Amino acid sequence: MIKAFNDIKTPAYVVDIERLKINLEVLKEVEDHTGVRILLAQKAFSMYHLYPLIGQYLAGTSASGLYEARLGHEHMKDREVHVYSPGFGEGEMMELVGFADHITFNSPGQWDRFRPLVEKAGRHISCGLRINPEYSEVETEIYNPCAPGSRLGIRPGQLERTDLSGIEGLMFHVMCEQGADVLERTLKVVEEKFGKYFKGLKWVNFGGGHHITREGYDLGLLERLVKGFMDRYGVEVYLEPGEAVALNAGYLVASVEDIVPAERDVAILDASAATHMPDVLEMPYRPQVIGAGVPGEKQYDYRLAGPTCLAGDIIGDYSFSEPLKVGDRLVFTDMAIYTMVKNNTFNGRPLPDIAVLEDGFVKVVKSFGYGDFKGRL
Ligand SMILES: *Cc1c(COP(=O)(O)O)cnc(C)c1O
Repeated sequence: MIKAFNDIKTPAYVVDIERLKINLEVLKEVEDHTGVRILLAQKAFSMYHLYPLIGQYLAGTSASGLYEARLGHEHMKDREVHVYSPGFGEGEMMELVGFADHITFNSPGQWDRFRPLVEKAGRHISCGLRINPEYSEVETEIYNPCAPGSRLGIRPGQLERTDLSGIEGLMFHVMCEQGADVLERTLKVVEEKFGKYFKGLKWVNFGGGHHITREGYDLGLLERLVKGFMDRYGVEVYLEPGEAVALNAGYLVASVEDIVPAERDVAILDASAATHMPDVLEMPYRPQVIGAGVPGEKQYDYRLAGPTCLAGDIIGDYSFSEPLKVGDRLVFTDMAIYTMVKNNTFNGRPLPDIAVLEDGFVKVVKSFGYGDFKGRL
């Protein structure tokens, strides 16, 4: 247990600056070795308090729409702003053309519709299209952009019939938490199906899902793939990882509020799967807790659960070497990504504080109250 967590208000997301920097150093090294440009995919991690730091390492931000793009523009100064959405609206595009550097469209129809706005912007915007190579090794259906019937990206046959004048780049995003070996197989397919379009483009964006900062990731292979691609086609290559930027760089600190006897005793926490770590239910997965084991591994088994009225607000089953009691602190790991950006106030639950851990001290950078619940209703 990290000592500084003993007396903070819970629940709280705490981002570990040292660990974040370790990730950023790895990404910077890949950039330096290859010339690839790496963007923070803000949909995974939008803690803009840290954008000035992240901007020292990365080329910019990528966004899923107007608000993320604006956040990147406002808080990661002098860095590139990229935006892609499966469907832009007219009001959204009118604002985006004021500051976005790259806009990637999901369909020829959207490009046709907004090309006049882009050309009237009075500044150069590099426009691209998302392609769908109909190849993905992602097995979880809800995360597979190449599943049959997918709305994400243009199929090879349709691109064949598309007027590419004015288009400077292509983007594909078909990976999720995967290694460079998956990228290697994916690139083979992408090049077979779309290789003839790459020469003459300015850039190709390999999307996100590259787990570059996880232990055992083959950095050498990634670098060879990127360099080889750049050499073959003479284009700039972008990567836009979200997870990899803040992987294992944050915690969710929670307190035990009650122990409810059941077949397996249930510890009710002030943190909830449903409201504070929705991916636990959506993926689903069982997050790690510092000092805890799987059931039966240590002497005392507990189910950890949230305080909402949702019966399924269950975080998972664990074991501990001491009995849990009211007031105990529990620390969930890898809680920087896809948490703050996805949380909600269901049941009127308070949102966790957002804090940083630096030099052994926790500093709260944002706290929330009743107004944040009421304000969105
Ligand atoms: C989700 C997404 C990303 C980031 O994915 P990670 O798995 O967090 O690396 C990047 N680009 C696009 C288009 C995405 O949809």
